[in-house]
Parts: sequence; structure tokens; C-alpha cells
Amino acid sequence: MSWVTELARADIVALRVYEHAAWRPELQRLHANELPWDPAGGDGRDGLNRYPQPQPRALLQRLAELYEVSPASVLLGRGSDEAIDLLCRAFCRAGTDAVLVCPPTFGMYSVCARIQGAEVIEVPLRSEQSFALDEQRVLERCTAMTKLLFLCSPNNPTGNLLEEAAVLRLAAALAGRALVVLDEAYLEFSGRASLARRLREFPNLAILRTLSKAYGLAGARCGALLADPEVIALLRKIIPPYAIARLTVDAALARLAPSALASLQPQLATLLTERARLQRELPGLRAVRRVWPSDANFILAEFDDAGGALERASAAGLLVRDARGYPGLGRALRISVGTPQQNTRLLESWS
Ligand SMILES: *Cc1c(COP(=O)(O)O)cnc(C)c1O
Repeated sequence: MSWVTELARADIVALRVYEHAAWRPELQRLHANELPWDPAGGDGRDGLNRYPQPQPRALLQRLAELYEVSPASVLLGRGSDEAIDLLCRAFCRAGTDAVLVCPPTFGMYSVCARIQGAEVIEVPLRSEQSFALDEQRVLERCTAMTKLLFLCSPNNPTGNLLEEAAVLRLAAALAGRALVVLDEAYLEFSGRASLARRLREFPNLAILRTLSKAYGLAGARCGALLADPEVIALLRKIIPPYAIARLTVDAALARLAPSALASLQPQLATLLTERARLQRELPGLRAVRRVWPSDANFILAEFDDAGGALERASAAGLLVRDARGYPGLGRALRISVGTPQQNTRLLESWS
């Protein structure tokens, strides 16, 4: 048995998959109970009247190029949120297995784990060390039942990158014992290279990417898991057969066309300039106590009166994220970097 087969739920490994309608584009489709006419007025052969291709090949290929891995290492999902959910379901037996998370961090890891009935083990980031990983404590708390370790870099909501070497040391220490899932949702804002380049060396490392943040396609719901082909094959067994809508495929391919990508660079540059401006100007405001450095497209800041700051922002027509519910962040708000005009208005509301 391979390490993936041993780590995964035995009933998922043995699961007989749903047999979706065969994908034979050279034949006319009378096998999927679709309407033969296209509501948009096309010839009915490949309009929205037809079910989409499961794991649509063109987009899979495009994302594999973008993320510099092979298509067999890519799972497409409805946002990276779907991959988080599928990982919990494929690897964690309800009532028995556990996932480990490092708060304060993205909430979906523990929510998906709990929906699956997995235990959630928490090893906080070290706030006094700029929210660095507590490597030793992570290893101490990982039991034989701990199947997944979720790490996020840059981390949401704190904005910092995790040390690459620390992530890889954890993957090496847990080889064959647990999957280390590194969420790179905000990587494009950091200037750092993806750890996807190390996947072959560290087969128990998995990377989450998304088109929702830097690529501006949050509404299209498109994300990817990059991992060992055996992990990907396992998750393809349990993802709903027609998960990725045609509209999403079309929007994503259009966004990733070279001409469209060219417009991304100046937007990203503006965003980074604005992040630096907020970083510079926020600490000078009376209400602000502390501003954390950020490698993402948001900034975590602590206020004397975070509730009051929220109210003043909303009076200016702006919504920022209340981060006070995160452990250790009792006075914090998370601010997404907006347009220059929006950022100016926000700063004015707090001055
Ligand atoms: C926004 C976000 C995601 C996810 O999103 P999708 O829109 O589901 O791709 C994943 N991880 C983190 C840390 C995020 O902040």
C-alpha cells in the first residue's frame, strides 16, 4: 500500500465512484438527459444546455502551466474552499482523526474539519515572534490520528509569510504520517515563489491556490489544490462530478489569457503601493495602536477602540473586517487594501 492509501480513509479508497456521462465530444449527446437546444441560441452542441466536462481539461492545463506543475498534480475546485473540504473528508474518519491548525488563521480549516467530525488541534502562531510557526509544539501535538496540518502563508488574518524552511522541515518530519497543506491564497502579493516547486521532493506537501484574490475572480469560484498525483486522484473520486460550471471555465480562461494578464501587473503594482501607504499612514492615526506588517492584500491593525473604528468606517460607507473574534486579537480589525480613493476615505474616517 502507498502512503496515501494508508493515510486516507479506507472507505474512500475503496469507494466505487459515480459514473458520470462519458465525455466523447466527437459524438452527439443523447446520453445525459440534457435539453438538445441551447437557451442562448447556439446550435445546441456545446452550450449551457450541456453538462460541463468534469475537471475541464483546458483550464486544468492552463492552471498547471500557471502554477508550474503537471496537470495530474492539479485538482480544480469551486474555490480553494472546496479542496479544504475534500481533504478533510478524504483523510479524516469522523470521531477518530484530527487536523492541526495554527491560529489565528483562516477559519475554514477548522470549520470543514468539524463538519467532517474530525478533532481540531490548535497550536497558536507565536505572536511575540511576528506570528511565526511554533514548529516544535506542532510536532509535539501531532498524534498518529493527525492526518492534516493546515498552514497559511501569507497567513490570513495576520498577513505574514511563514518561513519556508520551517514548512519544509515539518513536511519532512511528517513524511508518510500526515499531509502538510500550505495555503498560498495570497502568495501573489508577497513576491515570493510558490513552494509548489518542491512538491516532488516532499510528496506529503500540498498547496492551495486560488483565482479569488490576485486574479480578481472571487465571484467565479475557482481554486486549485496542487499535490502528489495520488492525492489528486483520490480527491477526484469524491468531488461532485460536474463541480466546475462552464461559466467559471470560460471566465477563468479569459482572465488567464496573456492579454488579460497584462492588465493584472499594473493593478497589482497599485495595490502594493496602496498597501505601503496604509502601512505608513495608519500608525500616525490617533485611534490606531499597532499595525502589523503585511505580505498580503490586507492589513491587520489594533485599535484602542476597535468597535468605534468599525462604526466610523461604516459611517464613511466602508466595511472592514472585525478580527476581534480571533484568539489574541481582541482589538484588531483586518483591512482589505482598496482603491486609492477608498483608502483615503478610510484613513480620513479614523483621523
Ligand atoms: C480567501 C481565502 C481562500 C479562498 O478562497 P476561495 O475563494 O475558496 O478560493 C483560501 N484561503 C485563505 C487563507 C483565504 O483567505
